[in-house]
Amino acid sequence: VVPEMEKPEAARERNCGGDHSRILVFVRLRPMAKREREAGSRCCVRIANRRDVYLTEFGNENDYLRLKRLRGRHFAFDASFPDTATQHEVYSATTAELVEAVLQGRNGSVFCYGATGAGKTYTMLGTVENPGVMVLAIKDLFTKIRQRSCDGNHVVHLSYLEVYNETVRDLLSPGRPLVLREDKQGIVAAGLTQYRAYSTDEVMALLFQGNQNRTTEPTRANETSSRSHAILQVMVEYRVKDAAMNVINRVCKLSLIDLAGSERALATDQRTLRSLEGANINRSLLALSSCINALVEGKRHIPYRNSKLTQLLKDSLGGSCNTVMIANISPSNLSFGETQNTLHWADRAKQIRAKASEVNEETLQVPESEADRAKLLLELQKEN
Ligand code: ADP
Ligand code: MG
Repeated sequence: VVPEMEKPEAARERNCGGDHSRILVFVRLRPMAKREREAGSRCCVRIANRRDVYLTEFGNENDYLRLKRLRGRHFAFDASFPDTATQHEVYSATTAELVEAVLQGRNGSVFCYGATGAGKTYTMLGTVENPGVMVLAIKDLFTKIRQRSCDGNHVVHLSYLEVYNETVRDLLSPGRPLVLREDKQGIVAAGLTQYRAYSTDEVMALLFQGNQNRTTEPTRANETSSRSHAILQVMVEYRVKDAAMNVINRVCKLSLIDLAGSERALATDQRTLRSLEGANINRSLLALSSCINALVEGKRHIPYRNSKLTQLLKDSLGGSCNTVMIANISPSNLSFGETQNTLHWADRAKQIRAKASEVNEETLQVPESEADRAKLLLELQKEN
């Protein structure tokens, strides 16, 4: 007997019925790149206690005038990862719980946010030697399923898609753009490949191939995908008994999202917004931000319809769904502005959850005397 599918209302209740929103916000600092070091850049970010992030507006050590304007910012997140953090550490702290939650019936989503080059794709996809959150989550999922049952109760399907310039494309089977349709289960991309996954190795190859299919910048040939959002959807289907002891099929979804570079989304001047593409990225990221705001504030109307990205994430973002944000940042003072923007964005996301009950940011004490300034200069030099 084929078990009945869980009713959409039941799934919605399960995922959105809770009254606690759970958005966890993390920051990951990447190591200084060779190119940045060669350009003479200095480190302007320090991470302490796996939690605190200090950002200092500090460029050239010989530029004594700059010291006078030395300002520091302090942020604190659910966890902050220094540039020495491994992929496993990042996965365990950010995503492992969401994988467990999916097996208990709750959808979840993990986003990487940050400027181009800040380490989003490294965090999400990683490399063959150092696979990232997407690969580690699937590996962990298979392990947990094996521990739970050997009776084939759980079936895993993957979809990997891209939103580029408000167009949706299948990364597992590139071709014509996909049309979004609303059906009983929610919003679906018509014709999207649902790949039945059996092993981690096979999935890893599939994801790297899919990533190759991401749209590259026509104007910046050496820089891939900075305007494209990549979404990996992991669907886990399994049988459970409902309240009336009927066997039903439940489908839970974990969405892992490598967002487009945030640099253009934050730029407000016309020069950077001249192209339609830039405007559309702005639209998707802004739409995502406003949905998260509305959800956490408990608004009745959530503006999912405002972009393709948010339509696609409608059932993975909301109520007591688990949401994780990883803000990626570069250590270089050459990216100071972008880092500052990213940290502010992440801090806002966190403050919404905390309902502004605590002060999350403070201005560091600016040293008054020459001697104190010299001491601070020495400390900064030692740290960097
Ligand atoms: P983004 O996707 O945000 O544009 P990438 O993930 O492509 O940025 O990272 C830019 C470069 O930095 C890549 O060469 C990547 O391998 C490297 N990188 C990023 N994060 C790390 C890290 N934590 N450890 C080592 N290399 C990293
Ligand atoms: Mg990338």
